[in-house]
Amino acid sequence: METLSLRCSNCGAPLQADASARQLSCGHCGVRLRVVGQGGEWFTEVLEELRADQRALRSQVDAIRIQREIAQLDRQWESVARRRGWGSRRGGAPMSPVRVRKGLQLAIALIVALGVVAFWLIGRRAGAHGVDEQARWGVLSAVVLVAIAIAFTLRATGSYQKAYELCQQRRRHLLQLLERVRGD
Ligand SMILES: [Zn+2]
Repeated sequence: METLSLRCSNCGAPLQADASARQLSCGHCGVRLRVVGQGGEWFTEVLEELRADQRALRSQVDAIRIQREIAQLDRQWESVARRRGWGSRRGGAPMSPVRVRKGLQLAIALIVALGVVAFWLIGRRAGAHGVDEQARWGVLSAVVLVAIAIAFTLRATGSYQKAYELCQQRRRHLLQLLERVRGD
């Protein structure tokens, strides 16, 4: 049987290998080696290094895939926000539903407060000058109607917020994965 005279690419120790052997361990340093033939020359390569190269390559591919997924998630979310009318202004990030909800709650509070003041003011004028009581109740009904309309909008933002939270959760998860992959 033909034997090859090789050198360990890790420590340089001479090695004898069967011609059909593709892998062997160095008897001197113990590293796992691959037997490579190129242009009639035979040499060895450390298997661990190959594995490290493959790992690095796989990490890069994973990182690209995760980044693509994050970009896709952002695009999806932006289109959801646009459909609801709370899309980004001038290419920025979509408005956070938390802010939308806070704005709507503030609007209800303001309208109710204004209504109460108007109701009270008209009541005082009515007492002093005999102004029609109908105006008073007209103001009150208008305030109640507007407040109800805003409350319905507020309710609709509930599902928007849920979608937003799910999206943010997935995004955080992907960012963590990306960090881990890059740390490899
Ligand atoms: Zn060796």
